[in-house]
Amino acid sequence: MGYLENLEEISNKKEKHEFYLPIPKGYERGRTKYIIVTGSVMSGVGKGTLTSCLGTLLRCHGLKISMIKFDGYLNYDAGTLNPFRHGEVFVLDDGTECDLDLGSYERFTNQNYTKDNYLTAGKIFKRIIEKERKGEFLGRDVQFIPHVTGEIKGFLRELAVKTRADVILVEVGGTVGDIENSYFIEAMRELRYEEGEHNVCFINVTYIIEPKSLQEQKSKAAQLGIRKLLELGVQPDIIFCRCESKLNESIREKISIYSNVPLKNVFELGDVESVYELPLILKDNNVDKAIFEVLKISERKNEESDINFSIWSSFVDKIKKSNKKINIAIVGKYTKVQDAYISIIKALEHSAAYYLAKPEIKWIEASLLEDENNNVKEDLVKESLKDVHGIIVPGGFGKRGIEAKISCIKYARENNIPFLGLCLGFQLAIVEFARNVCNLKDANSREFDLNTKHPVVDLLPEQKNIEEIGGTMRLGGKDVEIVPNTLAHKLYGKLLVRERFRHRFECNPNYVEILERHGMVFSGKAPNSNIMQILELPFHRFFLATQFHAEFTSKPLAPSPIFKGFIKSCLEFAGLSENSI
Ligand code: GLN
Repeated sequence: MGYLENLEEISNKKEKHEFYLPIPKGYERGRTKYIIVTGSVMSGVGKGTLTSCLGTLLRCHGLKISMIKFDGYLNYDAGTLNPFRHGEVFVLDDGTECDLDLGSYERFTNQNYTKDNYLTAGKIFKRIIEKERKGEFLGRDVQFIPHVTGEIKGFLRELAVKTRADVILVEVGGTVGDIENSYFIEAMRELRYEEGEHNVCFINVTYIIEPKSLQEQKSKAAQLGIRKLLELGVQPDIIFCRCESKLNESIREKISIYSNVPLKNVFELGDVESVYELPLILKDNNVDKAIFEVLKISERKNEESDINFSIWSSFVDKIKKSNKKINIAIVGKYTKVQDAYISIIKALEHSAAYYLAKPEIKWIEASLLEDENNNVKEDLVKESLKDVHGIIVPGGFGKRGIEAKISCIKYARENNIPFLGLCLGFQLAIVEFARNVCNLKDANSREFDLNTKHPVVDLLPEQKNIEEIGGTMRLGGKDVEIVPNTLAHKLYGKLLVRERFRHRFECNPNYVEILERHGMVFSGKAPNSNIMQILELPFHRFFLATQFHAEFTSKPLAPSPIFKGFIKSCLEFAGLSENSI
């Protein structure tokens, strides 16, 4: 395969030429290698999960990796996307609001990412137009090729320089054949041409259909999908065939013939009992060997302390052994799209494994607990919560279902049921307590009632003059000072922690005194400011809420202390032992 020999020279060439190669300072070709994951046939085949698990696999071998997601939409980031359409908006430590796949990358690779690990079409076009306005392309018409593709490769190479990773895993969102990702795929084709042999590995995840009426696997759709990729000038090195039943050998052979991919590099990607097992299954199937062969990097293998195959296997063993069933209610507003709460589901799963508990989630759509005048149907609240061992009120925006959520919190408080409030759940716990314990009858958050007599939750002062919606909330990782001798202190075991935020409203500092006087304890605060960040009720079994999203920092190998504490309390409430053995 052809390869661009004098990359740097061309990039620095002054006279007129057709290349546009922004190569960042310090870039060494071959230092960082790339794995490009594309999808064919359809979306939703598990490309994000597979990319994450390839990350686990390489990290377990001690390779230094980084990851990046390319998203084809024109939004600058995921901040303004509706969870109904796109699932959860995940928040990184630096405040980037991104696709939920980044959450999966962080959990599976046990490391954190930044804005440099997430690239949307909107971000790339903004960069290009800003450069154009500065006159950087003076005299030239700015084109998809070489400029847009050049900018994409430039972004990727900047990540390589910043991270000095052995391998960067690139997930191209969408499906081969979409207009939205076509120039991302083109950029990756060019990348292979420029980086040369053994530096770029293309993986395609395809789907093998098995129509019910035929009861047999059919490979035509996959063949066409892969052919589309070949038409774009991309020869895959490895193919994963997603299928519901075991991959038929003849189908595997057909895929190999049509795609020029050796049979040994055509892998099955079947359903698994637990996704956490997937990195180990990939290893058993020698996927790591196939990658090492393409990229020639086996000599870079190393020992890691935070993650390796034995640590990951013992976590998977725990997940498999977990059988102590606890019912957890999640009272939300996007419950029809469970991806909207994916980090909470995952945090429950991996924190529960620590105690060998198996959480069964009971989804409660808050608005269905209200009548058309927003009056809460109290009987329905009781009925819905009567058999649960813990209640979570997650984050959210907007008025729908708010009164029902407040009723559920009241029910948890009065019946001594473990309760965890996250962000909006924290704010509503304050409203509930103000109304029903402090006797401030009309207390509310100004988000839901602008004229409330008691705005116990109000807009953060710095939010008051903000007009733009995108990227303007109080976002990202912030320090939380823990108050000694509180439940929060017991759970974290330290006095300073860092958690991730995404909010515009806060507990109104003017009401802290009255809330505290009635027994609410603010056990986590922002250093040098009066933003309340954790609340708890001391005489309750477990009543704790956080202004931050504890779910975003929870990882299989490092579960959130808040979630662990909640699960432990749910187990006790269910009369089950909390022992992990
Ligand atoms: N809507 C609330 C706020 O803006 C809570 C946000 C959230 O739950 N992420 O503060």
